[in-house]
Amino acid sequence: MRTLTVRPGVADSVALADIDAPPADGAVLVDGVCVGLCGTDSEIVAAKYGEAPPDADHLALGHENLGRVAQAPPGSGLAAGDLVVGIVRRPDPVPCPACAAGEWDMCRNGRPTEHGIKGLHEFACERWRAEPDALVRLSPDLAEVGVLLEPTTIVSKRGSTWTGSASAFWAPEVVAVTGAGPVGLLAALLGVQRGLRVHGFDRVSSGPKPQLVADLGATYQTESLPDSGIAADVTVECTGVPSVIVDAMTHSATDAAVCLTGVSSTGTAIPVDIGEFNRKMVLRNDVLFGSVNANRRHYEAAAALSAADRSWLGHLITRRVPLSDFRDAFTRRPDDAKIVLELLEAQR
Ligand code: BGC
Repeated sequence: MRTLTVRPGVADSVALADIDAPPADGAVLVDGVCVGLCGTDSEIVAAKYGEAPPDADHLALGHENLGRVAQAPPGSGLAAGDLVVGIVRRPDPVPCPACAAGEWDMCRNGRPTEHGIKGLHEFACERWRAEPDALVRLSPDLAEVGVLLEPTTIVSKRGSTWTGSASAFWAPEVVAVTGAGPVGLLAALLGVQRGLRVHGFDRVSSGPKPQLVADLGATYQTESLPDSGIAADVTVECTGVPSVIVDAMTHSATDAAVCLTGVSSTGTAIPVDIGEFNRKMVLRNDVLFGSVNANRRHYEAAAALSAADRSWLGHLITRRVPLSDFRDAFTRRPDDAKIVLELLEAQR
């Protein structure tokens, strides 16, 4: 079977490899359906991120995933044919108190592993294995779009972003989402599903993004957040771009929550009046927080996908590329939203 590998730390080492057995262990054997590609994969390919398992010099890529169970042991709660998604992060081996409680996304010691990213091979492989408790079963009607579950968990994870937790009274009305890439679009979807007024900000004025945002009933804006004059109750920052992050941090409403989800490149210094920023944060009871990864609860609760319009979700996937054309998949085009690598070629 074929798998897509990189040698972490070696730029452009991405290659297809033939292997005899699935790259990781697990009682459940899964036929890979597809993997989604995101900025994290590109960073790993560019040797800016990623870590091979301890005993390997390469990493089998792929964390956003969708598969179909080929074989499952009796009593696992899974059966051949089930549509499944593998959970990306696994608890650290120590474990820290958060991992011990199953909240590995909140790991305290930085030692958790992540499939296809950090210390664990995985899902960009025609067949892969996982333990039953590392798999989430999806409704069969999500076969075309279930690969969007993992990026959805990233924005559905922080319940407090959407529902408020610090105060008995919190009634957000306006959401600003910065960046209309796949994660930003999914954040906009969640905001609309909660009945909030959503503004999606992105600098591009062509391609599929404006229509995807409009189709949700949200407002697409190409100006910057400060120029728009919008002070949102909830801001979900999905670009990781330093100047946009500063805008998101410094332009929100009173009692606002600002959630940072983008993993930025480092090395950009921007002058910020911290006194002014702090003064606003304190006097307005604002909350600013970062959010990464998701645990099993968030995968299971990502009902947003089931409730969403299938055709809208389908349009989020702008290119489906066969595994053998992986180089093309990593070459971004202006109209790309989510690019998906199809793993099923050999199984057809
Ligand atoms: C993945 C997360 C992961 C994070 C940091 C993101 O692209 O979706 O699952 O925790 O990168 O490695």
